[in-house]
Amino acid sequence: DIRIEMLNKSFGDLHVLKDIDLEIRAGETFSIIGPSGTGKSVLLKHIVKLVKPDSGRILIDGHDIFAKKPKDAPREYRYSMVFQTSALFNSLTVGENVGLWLREKRICNEARIRRIIRQKLRLVGLEGKEDFMTSELSGGMKKRVAIARSLAMNPDLILYDEPTAELDPVTSDELARVIMDLKKEVNLTSIIVSHDLNFAFYLSDRVAMIHEGRIIEIGTPAELKASENPVVKNFIFTTTK
Ligand code: ATP
Ligand code: MG
Repeated sequence: DIRIEMLNKSFGDLHVLKDIDLEIRAGETFSIIGPSGTGKSVLLKHIVKLVKPDSGRILIDGHDIFAKKPKDAPREYRYSMVFQTSALFNSLTVGENVGLWLREKRICNEARIRRIIRQKLRLVGLEGKEDFMTSELSGGMKKRVAIARSLAMNPDLILYDEPTAELDPVTSDELARVIMDLKKEVNLTSIIVSHDLNFAFYLSDRVAMIHEGRIIEIGTPAELKASENPVVKNFIFTTTK
């Protein structure tokens, strides 16, 4: 489980995250929604240790991720972030992009790396596409390659920041299905930040809405849709029509 306790973060005078308290269960698909500039990406960056909190803690399976590691620390918790831009190398093939991390770490031999690449591409519906040039793919396919690359490191947690940005509705639906199918095949905790509420509601077990740095609502998609909070109601109304 991931536990966030009373997390606060400011940049200069700007108090971006305020008393964030949140628990995300292992295997859960959890979305974070809210208006632009309310701290969603900053919250994700804390979970992957790109940003340090001013106060509060983040515990993963009971261990404070910012604490010094004790000698008997458990196995490193692995996480992987799928960035909005996909951040792929256009000059490499699909397979080379997916295998990048494995080859860099030299954790297994070439035959096994090829097997892993095949298996991860199958998981995102891109079976047999390893020799395609990345530059020739559509936006939706690139996104799936980026997911396959994240999966190559066998993460416990995968984070998506705006996965459907720049995708058309049909491609977004396809991506939602890929993420849903993944959940059935691999036991993965997923955290998704999205502007696309239909997408977030469709595939999430629970959703949190952040407004001006605070979590103002949290629950199942049905619970959010039935929220009595006027800010939540208005946000859902104006962004899902
Ligand atoms: P969007 O939906 O537009 O992506 P967001 O909710 O993800 O918005 P964040 O990127 O989390 O918003 O940013 C929240 C606030 O923190 C913004 O005002 C932003 O300018 C500020 N901010 C984020 N990172 C930094 C940083 N490294 N230094 C200074 N300010 C920052
Ligand atoms: Mg953002």
